[in-house]
Amino acid sequence: MRILVTGGAGFVGSHLIDRLMEAGHEVICLDNFYTGNKRNILQWLDNPYFELIRHDITEPIRLEVDQIYHLACPASPIHYQYNPIKTTKTSVLGTINMLGLAKRVKARILLASTSEIYGDPDVHPQTEEYRGNVNTIGIRSCYDEGKRIAETLCFDYHREHGLEIRVARIFNTYGSRMLENDGRVVSNFVVQALKGIPLTVYGDGSQTRSFCYVSDLVEGLMRLMNGDHVGPVNLGNPDEYTILELAQKIQQKINPNAQIQYKPLPADDPRQRQPDITRAREWLGWEPTIPLNDGLEKTIADLSDRLSQS
Ligand code: NAD
Ligand code: UDP
Repeated sequence: MRILVTGGAGFVGSHLIDRLMEAGHEVICLDNFYTGNKRNILQWLDNPYFELIRHDITEPIRLEVDQIYHLACPASPIHYQYNPIKTTKTSVLGTINMLGLAKRVKARILLASTSEIYGDPDVHPQTEEYRGNVNTIGIRSCYDEGKRIAETLCFDYHREHGLEIRVARIFNTYGSRMLENDGRVVSNFVVQALKGIPLTVYGDGSQTRSFCYVSDLVEGLMRLMNGDHVGPVNLGNPDEYTILELAQKIQQKINPNAQIQYKPLPADDPRQRQPDITRAREWLGWEPTIPLNDGLEKTIADLSDRLSQS
């Protein structure tokens, strides 16, 4: 198949491209390199079945493809809040453009949605039926509401035009290739511990997250794309930790003497987050296989390599 991956030079997208190329597909990677990096896809640049197009998805594009994994959108709060209007445009205009493309060439399209559509959830763990608790006017809204309307657009194209859609709600994912300055919690703590500077815990660290290793996520995305269920489907690891527990784990692994520095909790930071993955288990036969300890080891090795080269 010829498969388009938007945001393919990013963290998740580049791991997905590795799997698709290894499976013998033709892959087109579309990226504007806002948070993506050519280094992530370097190994495929000379491959005749791989094509890289520098393009901003807020502009339409004409391509002939069979499937579209639509991942383009900054995912780290510091990056999506840097230019919030652009973030909304990427989710809204970008998704309209990709759905238009899918409709024209009759391609199946998978949207990388997010657990952020549940906002600061008052249902725990979160099932797909939960409709969320999102602030429409806060600093996270550009991302959360952008993804909510992207989901709406997918389902309207599905109902109106019979488009084949798939919607994945991705929970916090981490792993190799996260940028040193990505800003998300796992890479921040690992980089800080490796550099011997204090680990920055926002608030008192009692807020929780559930961390999924990237290879598990990619497996879930591919099963969803190639299965019969439209979704939405939660993809994440149900093992839940407080942020302080995560800091302590990373501290123990890298540098037990590293300090912890408490910083103010950003506005609207969700108090808790844990996926209910019953649907993914039943529909896709999917569940995570990599425990946090193993995933952290891989992430630490990767970031440590890159830091020692820079
Ligand atoms: P990332 O920032 O590493 O990757 C996003 C990619 O999209 C980058 O390569 C970036 O350059 C590209 N991009 C951004 N705006 C673009 C635009 N206007 N036009 C073209 N390309 C653009 O983030 P990631 O963690 O790999 O996330 C990938 C997708 O998965 C995103 O849609 C994100 O919302 C979703 N997601 C990720 C997580 C996670 O924990 N990693 C959680 C929930 C949802
Ligand atoms: N966080 C933290 N220190 C950091 C980065 C993040 O304590 O250096 C916290 C953040 O406030 C949030 C959690 O870790 O409660 C996860 O943040 P991240 O940006 O990784 O993703 P989010 O789930 O908030 O989108």
